Amino acid sequence: MGMTRRPIARDQATIAILGVGGLGAPAALALAHAGVGKLILIDDDEVDRSNLHRQILFRDADVGRPKLQATADALARRGLSTKTELREGRLDPMHTELLAGADVIVECSDNFATKFLSADAARLRRVPIVHGAAIRWIGTALAVGPEGGPCYRCLFEDIPPGAQAGCDIAGVVGPVCGVIGALQAHLALQALEGDAAFGTLATLDGLRDELRVRRIRARADCALCGSHPTIDAIDAARYHPAEE
Ligand SMILES: [Zn+2]
Repeated sequence: MGMTRRPIARDQATIAILGVGGLGAPAALALAHAGVGKLILIDDDEVDRSNLHRQILFRDADVGRPKLQATADALARRGLSTKTELREGRLDPMHTELLAGADVIVECSDNFATKFLSADAARLRRVPIVHGAAIRWIGTALAVGPEGGPCYRCLFEDIPPGAQAGCDIAGVVGPVCGVIGALQAHLALQALEGDAAFGTLATLDGLRDELRVRRIRARADCALCGSHPTIDAIDAARYHPAEE
């Protein structure tokens, strides 16, 4: 299955966090405390009071500030050795270079278009990616390797048709975000060590207090990681939800 990846020392590693909200904040905190050399933080949003319950790095005084700056300040107050690089912007098909330079990408976005785009961009860059999602009481984390399967598209073939409820509409329970963000950090650290994490889907059911971890199956006909992949470039038309 391709080349063997060398482990990357934590203090030499660069990890990109796509979105520093409910999942990205706990992930950034865990990775900084774990001694990761550099975090690339990517976001274009401001701190909103209604999100403070799940965005644990931010304080009341941060409301209205750019999340990037508030995150960098919160990490700096802890006096850790991790460097931060702030990249203001939104990942879109014209701006996937926002992900450049990362050894691992931690995807903490809140919409399917960004999730699929980052999945494709990570694969085309041959970089491992750890996807995360949380809605209401349910959260998931999935680590995908830089090559081979399975991948995000093995699990969710394409963007679901029609609009879906994001956590702004459906709501999400703060501690579920905390667990999933920390789990994403854990999987990202594992990805620096080797390939043990890849293909593992963790699902937290916060109502039943259940955490299930299972290997997902690679689909031979997957458009991204299958034996004849059809996604070999970023095509903007691919990241709109299909019409119903
Ligand atoms: Zn796949």
